[in-house]
Amino acid sequence: MSHSGSDASYDIVLIGAGIMSATLGAMLKILQPNASIAIYERLGAIAAESSDAWNNAGTGHAALCELNYTPERPDGSVETVKAFGINEQFELSKQFWAYLLEKGKIKGPEAFLAQTPHMSFVIGEKNIAYLKQRYELLKPHHAFAAMEYSEDKEVIRKWAPLIMEGRAADEKVAATRVATGTDVNFGALSTFLFEAIGKEENVAFHYHHEVKNLSRNADQSWSVKVADLDQGKTFKVNAKFVFVGAGGRALSLIQKSGIPEGKGFGGFPVSGQWLRCVNPDIIAQHKAKVYGKAAVGAPPMSVPHLDTRVINGKKELLFGPYAGFSTKFLKQGSYWDLPCSIKGNNIYPMVRAGLANVSLTKYLIEQVMQKPKDRLEALREYFPNAKAEDWALEVAGQRVQVIKKDKEKGGVLQFGTEVITAADGSISGLLGASPGASTAVPIMIKLIERCFPKEMKENGWAIRMKELIPSYGQSLEKDAALYATIVKRSNDLLHIKEEI
Ligand SMILES: Cc1cc2nc3c(=O)[nH]c(=O)nc-3n(C[C@H](O)[C@H](O)[C@H](O)COP(=O)(O)OP(=O)(O)OC[C@H]3O[C@@H](n4cnc5c(N)ncnc54)[C@H](O)[C@@H]3O)c2cc1C
Repeated sequence: MSHSGSDASYDIVLIGAGIMSATLGAMLKILQPNASIAIYERLGAIAAESSDAWNNAGTGHAALCELNYTPERPDGSVETVKAFGINEQFELSKQFWAYLLEKGKIKGPEAFLAQTPHMSFVIGEKNIAYLKQRYELLKPHHAFAAMEYSEDKEVIRKWAPLIMEGRAADEKVAATRVATGTDVNFGALSTFLFEAIGKEENVAFHYHHEVKNLSRNADQSWSVKVADLDQGKTFKVNAKFVFVGAGGRALSLIQKSGIPEGKGFGGFPVSGQWLRCVNPDIIAQHKAKVYGKAAVGAPPMSVPHLDTRVINGKKELLFGPYAGFSTKFLKQGSYWDLPCSIKGNNIYPMVRAGLANVSLTKYLIEQVMQKPKDRLEALREYFPNAKAEDWALEVAGQRVQVIKKDKEKGGVLQFGTEVITAADGSISGLLGASPGASTAVPIMIKLIERCFPKEMKENGWAIRMKELIPSYGQSLEKDAALYATIVKRSNDLLHIKEEI
């Protein structure tokens, strides 16, 4: 990848080298091959924050097993709207990855994706009734037709032996399973995407370069102030379009840009930890992602799961995440991140959101106070025979949940993703972390439509987008025949079989 000096001008500047910048950069470089792109990353590696395989759970979120996407309403019925949406979004991501593989642009698929059955597992009659209802609502839809359900312990034992070993004979359990689930190494995928971008003309990639500030030029383009951390000097570059893909730090850069659309937003950091299995005999016995139900007051992304992972070609087993609290917005961030993000325009929404989420605060305090025996106890709900000596504690990535202004409530804490874009589409940044990396492709499709409407219409981008994403402009959720054709093609290219 080429290097260029200060005062340079680019069509596109990408801040941060995580999966979001990688996905956007790869798409834009295909849509407009002659676009000049500069990428600035403060660390010395690609995807060293949330996108690193050890920092996230690697679940290809398709709503096949995550019970938080099908919440129970107060009357006991199950809401499925979100599940259908997330399933379609993941299929868009799969289509883009399949396209890149077919064109030989990225390595894989095994180098970044491992087929791993997705299971939901619940204990007790109330939870069983919920899971059964969820299954009965999803199963008739073509996207969930492959889902299996069982309350039979022998069947569940075959699917995932570890979760059944040592369980009391009279304990009532139920599970669903979808064989076509995936484990994705988003760190490896980010690397492959940046390698693909770097092979093209007019691309400058800089490690150890931290973006410090953003200001408007007279012609409405952006002046990006960058610190070269190795040389200890700063310089400015100009950009027609800026993407703030700085993960947890995106909020502070959006604030610095001064765009009115960024006013009133705040961030609430939630850190995480995993238990990582260090016993190869146990790792070998599990082959699934087993998701349970979140505890009362727990944020939705803290749903416990016992997960087979494949990281750098090696099978691993993780349990968690256990939530925690730190004022850092990045794992390698600063304890000043949260205090410095509090501004006159977001303090009221932040306070209101805080007051409305006392149960979350209580939950986080309890999690922070956890001792090793508490963590083991939580693990034993999923793996009753787990022994402390087989597990080591690892620190996961940092997530910054979005706090935004709300007319009625003053401020709300939300667990999704928020893309903040200036009215003229010249700068856009991504806040939040759920469903996260799995939906990088649909997020970037929307961002491109929003920021490059002229190019989409007049420069043939919309037509080219259909090559990258064959279902672009159509609904996989509504069209069963289209779903079958598209998913078969993606699965063939990504080596996902109907059964494993
Ligand atoms: C515990 C946990 C579990 C998760 N599980 C899943 C999962 O199972 N499935 C899923 O799909 N998603 C999951 N996610 C979410 C997913 O990891 C994130 O949504 C995704 O990685 C975010 O990518 P990003 O590119 O926005 O940010 P990051 O990967 O954090 O990248 C941001 C980059 O910007 C750099 N940067 C920051 N500030 C600057 C600056 N000023 N100048 C230059 N560079 C800068 C950082 O160093 C970093 O490299 C999980 C996240 C966590 C924390």
